Amino acid sequence: HGQIISHFGRQVDVEAQEGEAAGQIFRCHMRTNLDALVTGDRVIWRAGVEYGVVVATQPRTTILQRPNNHGELKPVAANIDQIIITIAVEPLAHYNLIDRYLVASELSGIEPIILLNKTDLINDDNRERVDTMIDLYRSIGYQVMTVSSVDKEGLAPLQAQLNDRISVFVGQSGVGKSSLINALLPGIDLKVGALSESTRKGTHTTTTARLFHFPDGGDLIDSPGIREFALWHINENNLLDGFREFAPFIGYCKFRDCNHEREPGCAIKHAIEEGKISAQRVNSYKHILTSLNQN
Ligand code: GDP
Ligand code: ZN
Repeated sequence: HGQIISHFGRQVDVEAQEGEAAGQIFRCHMRTNLDALVTGDRVIWRAGVEYGVVVATQPRTTILQRPNNHGELKPVAANIDQIIITIAVEPLAHYNLIDRYLVASELSGIEPIILLNKTDLINDDNRERVDTMIDLYRSIGYQVMTVSSVDKEGLAPLQAQLNDRISVFVGQSGVGKSSLINALLPGIDLKVGALSESTRKGTHTTTTARLFHFPDGGDLIDSPGIREFALWHINENNLLDGFREFAPFIGYCKFRDCNHEREPGCAIKHAIEEGKISAQRVNSYKHILTSLNQN
């Protein structure tokens, strides 16, 4: 048994998961009958003189897909258990942006966690806005964690949450993903390009996703592409399904083509009036829908 740590076209780096070689990495070819493998895939492999051979693949629990240059969705990583949606206190993320990440996570079938970084920047001017945001997402049922990579506050609960799982960090540039990952993975300086400068002599290593082990348990899959995770596979038809608390009201509007604006008998509007769903989230839904229609 082994796990794909990185992949380069038809070659992969497999980490042995059992036996004397457990934990060591072997460059392998793939049997030609196998579909392309991605980082995180679990495989059956066999050692060889120079290269090993992957002989079978195990089913994936989840797949993170992203469009290639031709707009076709391609797997980039497999078996991810949670998506850490990283946002910062300053500038505080817009609801709309957080909701985009949540929708994309929900529709990938991967558990999202909201991670609010830079809590050292909380002050009397922004505290209320920050608390309101945290309360909204917790009330929907999302886990919200707070951390400061500068003060090293909140790192222990975060490490506990990462344990025994494969995670990815997503979020806008500047929110502190590299700082956090550097704090959690000492010795691997992502800023100096551990992702692009492979430890091996292989070529084509620039953008491929790579799996790292956290010293306190759990794994990270990271690549510049994964950090840009977005609404790659969302369309008008599945968007509503990305808002988990809307589920009890979907399909109960009087009109089947209800836009949830001013139509009579709108179950969504009714749920807002009754305080069962937040107007903020419905606004996000409408915003995202409009932006999807513009593409
Ligand atoms: P990335 O683009 O998401 O990888 O963000 P970086 O890790 O490069 O961080 C962006 C900026 O935010 C840098 O100037 C960091 O020093 C700063 N930063 C990161 N974490 C914190 C934090 O917890 N508090 C504060 N005040 N600044 C932080
Ligand atoms: Zn409606």
